Amino acid sequence: RFMTDTKVHLLDGGTLVIDGFHAFWNRGPAGEVRFPCYSVLIEHAEGRYIFDTGYDFDHVMRVLPFEKPIQDKSQTLPGQLAKLGLKAGDINYVINSHYHFDHCGGNKYFGAACTLCHAKELEASGNCQPFEHLGYSDMSFAPSLAAKRGLKLPPDPLLDMYTPKFETLTGDQEIAKGLRLFETPGHTAGHYSLMVELKNRRPMLFTADACYSKKNMDMMCISSFHLDPTASLASMKRLKALAEQHDAELFYSHDLESFATYRTGADFYS
Ligand code: ZN
Repeated sequence: RFMTDTKVHLLDGGTLVIDGFHAFWNRGPAGEVRFPCYSVLIEHAEGRYIFDTGYDFDHVMRVLPFEKPIQDKSQTLPGQLAKLGLKAGDINYVINSHYHFDHCGGNKYFGAACTLCHAKELEASGNCQPFEHLGYSDMSFAPSLAAKRGLKLPPDPLLDMYTPKFETLTGDQEIAKGLRLFETPGHTAGHYSLMVELKNRRPMLFTADACYSKKNMDMMCISSFHLDPTASLASMKRLKALAEQHDAELFYSHDLESFATYRTGADFYS
């Protein structure tokens, strides 16, 4: 299929809940904060890319039911892709910002794709610190790493077929024309944010979990999930500077208010 101009679709993956003190470290206030999870589909001349793959409902119900997932069948990745007339096999590349369960739960659908991530992130997910176990609890994205950690994956016919191919990266990288990964560590060891340049509008800068929401950015307040709080704050400052430097619009990973203003599903950015 011949494609010219890059298009970006945001694929709604449902919502989860965390406490306000987790969303805003040392600030809060306490109480449930419901937030969206979404994937970014980039139709590019060099192939179809998916940035992050959301959470797996069954995994969350089994391991973190207190995050109260709300996700219907149309909010799974196969459901979202079907709305665009696509199947999982049509995706050439999966890019993972990091390997927390709410960013890689759908990787298992993309056995035909090449998976791109930061080298340090893949390493950390296979050898994480005790406080990170819940974050890195969905290891279905890398069954061989799961085995190394001694984690038994639940029976799933998809996983019988799934042998992902990884291409690990370090440093900032332009992975295809106008598709750039920026290192934004702190939340995790090898976190990447993604900038997409488009013909008809400002670049889109997807923060991923280097900044959950506009409120985090406005308050310069990091989340309570972090490997390194100093690096986390530096990464937020970096994102702010990158947005200014490239006149890019920031798209936050877990911001219900902002998400309501984003184009989703069949609607797209170009
Ligand atoms: Zn995360």
